[in-house]
Parts: sequence; C-alpha cells; structure tokens
Amino acid sequence: MNVLVLNSGSSSLKFQVIATDRDRIRDHKDDRICRGEVEGMGGEAIIRFQHRDERSQTLTASLRDIAAALEYLVRYIASERSGVSEIKTTADFNAVGHRVVHGGEMFKESALIDDKVLQGIEDCIDLAPLHNPNNVKGIQAARELFGKDLPQVAVFDTAFHSSIPEQAYLYALPYHLYRRHRIRRYGFHGTSHRYVAFRYRVLRGLTREHTNIITLHLGNGCSAAAIKGGSSVDTSMGMTPLEGLVMGTRSGDLDPAIVSVIARKEGLSSSEVDTLLNTQSGLLGVSGLTNDMRELQAELKEHDDRRVRLAIEIFCYRARKYIGAFLASMGGADAIVFTGGIGENSPDVRARICAGMEWAGIRLDPQKNQDTVGREGKICAEDSRVLVYAIPTDEELLIARDTVRVILGEPHPS
Ligand code: ADP
Repeated sequence: MNVLVLNSGSSSLKFQVIATDRDRIRDHKDDRICRGEVEGMGGEAIIRFQHRDERSQTLTASLRDIAAALEYLVRYIASERSGVSEIKTTADFNAVGHRVVHGGEMFKESALIDDKVLQGIEDCIDLAPLHNPNNVKGIQAARELFGKDLPQVAVFDTAFHSSIPEQAYLYALPYHLYRRHRIRRYGFHGTSHRYVAFRYRVLRGLTREHTNIITLHLGNGCSAAAIKGGSSVDTSMGMTPLEGLVMGTRSGDLDPAIVSVIARKEGLSSSEVDTLLNTQSGLLGVSGLTNDMRELQAELKEHDDRRVRLAIEIFCYRARKYIGAFLASMGGADAIVFTGGIGENSPDVRARICAGMEWAGIRLDPQKNQDTVGREGKICAEDSRVLVYAIPTDEELLIARDTVRVILGEPHPS
C-alpha cells in the first residue's frame, strides 16, 4: 500500500510516501519512497522534496492554503519530474495517514476517518485550538482531492498516553473543572514515545509487557514519558504541550501564579502571557539568542557566553529532574531512551542530563555516547544498572504502519 503520511501545520505541510503492508511490517521492510515539506503556505511557498536518497530538490509555487499545497504535491509526485516510478496518477495512492495533535479522551488509538471521527477531531479543537484546526483542514483537503472512498486514518499524538492513570492525569484543581472542561493531563509526542519504546524492545528482544523505560523526546518540543509494562503511565506534557521540560521556545514547568504576575507587571493579557510562555521562553528566552540547541552549543564553545551556558544547564537539569521523578513514580526503570533532534544528535546534552546519576544506576560510556549520533545504539557503560539508548524517532513510519493496520482491522502490536 502506498501511504501518504501528512502532518499539517498552520503554514507548513510535512509529508512522506511510505509503501508498506502486513508482510513488510512483519519483516521491517517498509519502503520510504519520498519525503519533504511545504513551507510558507499562504503566499510564495517553498517545497522541499526528496526521492529516496537522491539529492533534495527545492521548488517554489504560490500556494494559498493546505488544499492548494496538497494538490500541488500530489500532482508533483505523480509527475515524471519527481522521479517516483511507483506513482503515476493520484489513483496510485492507497491511503492517507494523518498526524492529529489532540484526540482528547475520545481517541485511545488510531482511527479510520469517517464523518463521526472527523466530528470528534473537530470537537477536540477546544483542547488544541492552535493545532487541530490545521489537522482538520488537512483531512478535508485530502478528502476533496482523493474522494471519500480513499481510506484515511488519524494517528493521535495523545493516544499513547491514554493509559495514564487518574492519579497522574488529574490536576489538584476543583474536580468540577475536570468534569466541566476536561482539564487534565493528556500528554503529546505519543507516537514518538511509542515508536522508540517499540524499537527498544526490538533491539533487546523483549515483549511489550517487559518494557519498563523512561523515554526523553528532546526536539524543538520536549517531553519525557514513563512507560511501564509497555504502556505510558506518566508524561511531562500536560493539558497542552507547555508543561514539563524546558523546550526551544517553551518554558515548561513554572509556578502558575507567575502567569498573573507577568500579566500585571508587563500589562499583558492572559493570552499574551500564553504566547510569551510558548514562543519567547525556553532556550530562546534564557539565552536571548536562539531556540536552536546546536547553535547554542557552538556559541558556548566559541564564546562561553553565561546566558547560553545557563540555558543549556537549565534544560539539562530539568530533564534530569524528570528522570528522577519518573524513576520514583514507576518504581525504577530498566532503561532511559533518548530521541528527537537533540536526544539523537547531542552526546553533550545526554552526558549533562545523566551526570551525577550513578546513584540511580545510570552510567554512560563516554566513547559510545560520543560515537552514537543520528543512529540507534546503547550508550551506557557495561556496569550501568539502568541501560541508556539513543534511538532516532520515526513518527511517519508508525503513522504509515498504523494506517495499514487500521485499514486491515488489525490491532496495534506496539
Ligand atoms: P522538531 O521537534 O521540530 O521535530 P527536531 O526533533 O528536529 O525538532 O529537533 C530540533 C532540535 O534538535 C534543535 O534544537 C536542533 O538544534 C537540535 N539538533 C539537531 N542536531 C543537533 C546536533 N548535532 N547537536 C545538538 N543539537 C542538535
């Protein structure tokens, strides 16, 4: 099955075409045909396109919205120019898998999209006003382009965390706020946490039930998950992706009273404070320079800037604190798994996070840590009681596989 995987944002549309089916999933033989991204929708957009391992192409086109971007992409992939021999017409796409940010309490697993599911995703807009509307637009655009008969599947960022128990998902607020407005922890990055937990278990030859790990997704957004018996039992992101770890531009945890203090002192509305916490804080806010960890590390090396050092230190300290918290809440873990752009590529950040955790049985092997960049590997010392891995995430692959499984009516093994 040629599955078109879509991740629709407000001004960008990320895509991949992955050929997979029951046998390929079993044999880990999924075929990544092409991938890319449309950026700057709404005006003159830039389209980056890569066929297999060939050189990436950059195109430009005036694309007013997601529907126009999708139509352009699909026509381009089907055209001779793309070099994609498997796809000659739109009829060669067999399914679409959508990344959907918020599935609320309704969606505990990936779902075949019909009118009821689409309505459910729309009902979750209240919980994710910045994200779900774009996902809905992506689904509607695909429906219009391919027709209603082409199966489409929604894979939710929140679904993996639907197993979190009440004591971990409820905030200590008046209970009626949960009853009335569903204010609770949902968690995000679920597809990524689920994927690396799956890879960990494949690498170690374990069953799902024996997967007791803490996963750290450190990218632009960052979150930690406590995974016990293969299921998520806690996570650092909350009702929105703002809670928890320090991120590129998000503050993560803070005293909630600070929100009204900032509003009062800076003369901001609550939604302006919300924007400040989401877009001007984190690594960017502390360093005053950039949200990009790679740039911060280069800057630290060159100029040893105090605020850059502080930003990295706060980032790593918070992550370490969450490892400690989750070790306590899970009653210990067998492994820590790093993923996301920073987790996969920065031995320095991984070392800073694990520093001084020997008491908990966590000890890195400096050489293995240094050597494991952008690939899967065990990075702990032989005598480390808790294993430590770096595992590149692959949310698109999991979305493609879920799409096939849902269409075939098979349960998810991971
Ligand atoms: P997103 O969450 O948007 O998918 P990524 O997972 O790609 O983002 O992560 C982006 C982050 O990863 C950026 O902060 C980037 O600087 C960081 N990163 C990527 N490569 C490296 C590297 N070699 N060293 C340090 N940080 C890196």
